[in-house]
Amino acid sequence: MALQACTDHPSETVSSDIPVLKERGQREVFCGLTGIVWLHRKMQDAFFLVVGSRTCAHLIQSAAGVMIFAEPRFGTAILGERDLAGLADANEELERVVEELLVRRPDINTLFLVGSCPSEVIKLDLAKAAEKLNHRHFPKTRVLNYSGSGIETTFTQGEDACLGSMVPVLPSKETDEPALMVVGSLADVVEDQFQRLFNQMGIGPVSFFPPRRAADLPSVGKGTKLLVAQPFLSETVRLLIARGAKLLPSPYPFGIEGTTAWLKTAAEAWEVDSEKFEAVIAPAVARANTGLERYRQELSGRKAFLFPDSQLEIPLARFLSRECGMELVEVGTPYIDRLLMDHEIALLPQGTALSEGQDVEKQLDRCRSARPDITVCGLGLANPLEAEGMATKWSIELVFSPLHGYDQAADLAELFTRSLERRKRLTV
Ligand code: SF4
Repeated sequence: MALQACTDHPSETVSSDIPVLKERGQREVFCGLTGIVWLHRKMQDAFFLVVGSRTCAHLIQSAAGVMIFAEPRFGTAILGERDLAGLADANEELERVVEELLVRRPDINTLFLVGSCPSEVIKLDLAKAAEKLNHRHFPKTRVLNYSGSGIETTFTQGEDACLGSMVPVLPSKETDEPALMVVGSLADVVEDQFQRLFNQMGIGPVSFFPPRRAADLPSVGKGTKLLVAQPFLSETVRLLIARGAKLLPSPYPFGIEGTTAWLKTAAEAWEVDSEKFEAVIAPAVARANTGLERYRQELSGRKAFLFPDSQLEIPLARFLSRECGMELVEVGTPYIDRLLMDHEIALLPQGTALSEGQDVEKQLDRCRSARPDITVCGLGLANPLEAEGMATKWSIELVFSPLHGYDQAADLAELFTRSLERRKRLTV
């Protein structure tokens, strides 16, 4: 959590004519270390070693919950006082810890050294450490480095930093033939659903980044077309573009409309004719519409307030307003990257109150005075707001659950109705 002087900048205009309230002040968000919780599940042969303090270890343990008992593929090399006093010691200690780890866990294919606030403050050069260790252990184990610190990253930006660290080691594509790369970690089941739809449309070859095994890195180069599945991958997308890939800008695959627009973007790049496209998506769209109907009825006409947390807020707000009929009181997001967000912002209803950054007390005041039906926020705010009589939805669940694609559209809406249902049931 960072404390900064409160300075409100009046407003700035993004695309269309939606004004953005820019705020800087006290923030209530996770740092990028939390990305490890879902990234280690995605890449089954990778290990994440946080170089940080006990605070960092506690954070990961509480975010990962019960997963810590299942021999996880993450851990913390805790910087002790001796390390903090002398950098030479810290470097030696780190090397020793890594050697021990690799002996104990020979199945590790890729080891990420993850920087934290303490390692950054004492200027521990993890990039150099990773290079040295990589030299020693590659090809058996590749050692990479990125920062998940609260100074540099907010929550999902940790995934961006992690994927960004992998881009330079992706193999170069040998031909200029078109190939689709889906960027952003998706649950395996969602990946399989998309793969089937792409196959039926004749779109391919398709690779997913990150891959299920860190050893199976997709190649990149001229002809690679990027279809981005998560809106928080600013750095990764720019690095991939620098390696010759081309971005296919699109809304994100949340809800029926978002998924159709996303698939259509790829279909157009592969010149799939529209009849074929419609025929392929029709059964899934019909299923999703049926599934969504009952939640639509429940959410329609209700007011939503979204606090900034994950970068998913704008696509989710678009889904809640256009597909569930909700009224958007305020849509907060940690930052807006025009390259990745313009297509989503254009779909928000005119007049939506967008805010970027946070000054939590002021935002809480706005939330209280609006009395929304549902407030989407982090765990730190959820219980206090519930105690004030407001229904909340924990935003972290939106990152951990498989919610992309047609077959998950109803699950996504259900997450928002759940807290309303609970309140109804508990009211006597
Ligand atoms: S990286 Fe920084 S913000 Fe994150 S847990 Fe460690 S000390 Fe806290």
